[in-house]
Amino acid sequence: MRTNSAPRIAIIGAGMAGASCAQLLASAGWAVQVFDKSRGVGGRMSTRRLDWTDANGSTHPASFDHGAPCFSAHSADFASFVAQAAGDGLLARWTPRMAPSSYLPLGSPDLWTPTPDMPALCRSLLAGLPVRTCCAIDALRRDESGWRLESGGITVDQGFAAVVVAIPPAQAAALLQDHQAAWAQQAQAQKMLPGWALMAVTDEAASAEAQAWDLAWPSSGPLAWVIRDDAKPGRKQQPSLTHWVAHATVDWSQTHLEAPAAEVEAALKQALAQQLGRQPHWHYSTVHRWRYASVPRAAASSISTTTHRWDAAIGLGACGDALGGAGVEGAWASARALAAAINASSQTPLPHDRQAHA
Ligand SMILES: Cc1cc2nc3c(=O)[nH]c(=O)nc-3n(C[C@H](O)[C@H](O)[C@H](O)COP(=O)(O)OP(=O)(O)OC[C@H]3O[C@@H](n4cnc5c(N)ncnc54)[C@H](O)[C@@H]3O)c2cc1C
Repeated sequence: MRTNSAPRIAIIGAGMAGASCAQLLASAGWAVQVFDKSRGVGGRMSTRRLDWTDANGSTHPASFDHGAPCFSAHSADFASFVAQAAGDGLLARWTPRMAPSSYLPLGSPDLWTPTPDMPALCRSLLAGLPVRTCCAIDALRRDESGWRLESGGITVDQGFAAVVVAIPPAQAAALLQDHQAAWAQQAQAQKMLPGWALMAVTDEAASAEAQAWDLAWPSSGPLAWVIRDDAKPGRKQQPSLTHWVAHATVDWSQTHLEAPAAEVEAALKQALAQQLGRQPHWHYSTVHRWRYASVPRAAASSISTTTHRWDAAIGLGACGDALGGAGVEGAWASARALAAAINASSQTPLPHDRQAHA
């Protein structure tokens, strides 16, 4: 719980790592203030909402989970967090109908998706906490009065006892450089994998049998995942329409990283049509390039054996999927480890400690 006398901590980034860290630190008594450059929270657990116009001039709402479509829990700790969130109605188990020749290996962990959209989990973690969106922090300054955060050369907030950088490594490096050059260097060296994503609205297949699946993993071609997005739990379906998100493979995305969006869109539409086994009527389509989509699982944390970074002497920390072992679970694990380290090393007695010992 926040009190007026609680030490202030700035959290930069409101994805899974930043939101989890903020929630844990707030419950431990810190006065957290979260900043994110995007319009909303969730980071790569994102849902794009838009309106498209049909041939008659009528507009239709659409939404696409164009970042992480789902995640699974491998550790007992994360499984317990997931169970709690599912019990609170924030997560639903996703059991997609698999396309012919695509199958979930026996014993695969459950797939979970936040509902009603991907950012819902982060929104819930951040409920009641101050979050400043549309605010890209591009410099951190520190003097005797604490940390000061800048955006475009202007101070956006100051007087923080500590700062947590919970953003992808390439972006974190610039903020860390002046204060922890070694971390910045390691962040810069961290490999991140790109991903192109196609979002499309098509007509429905003529028969239910012709479209009896929600998830395909094509074994060849540009696409890694094809997801019937409107069939995920808690998503809205619209009569006669089908909403797709198709993710290109890492290799294809790397090769086409700088290709024009129109060229990428045409190639991914062709691949989706091939997967559907028909040429659908395209009502709407667009693509999104994730330059830093994910961390190679084997490479995550290979540069460092730590799951997070914390310099208690200056009050600077870093967390995220790249440190925690990749994916949503890695981001959560990294944030949790950092929050524990901050609380353990905090030299300022926290408000509830002061009350307890008063
Ligand atoms: C296409 C795609 C598919 C994926 N599939 C899966 C999957 O199947 N399973 C899985 O577990 N994971 C998957 N992931 C990865 C998963 O989404 C990430 O590992 C996880 O969400 C990372 O969380 P994070 O908090 O570390 O970083 P992010 O989610 O990237 O959050 C960082 C936040 O920081 C903000 N930010 C960045 N720079 C600044 C700045 N200078 N100032 C202020 N704010 C800033 C960003 O706007 C963002 O909100 C996928 C990701 C993508 C893109």
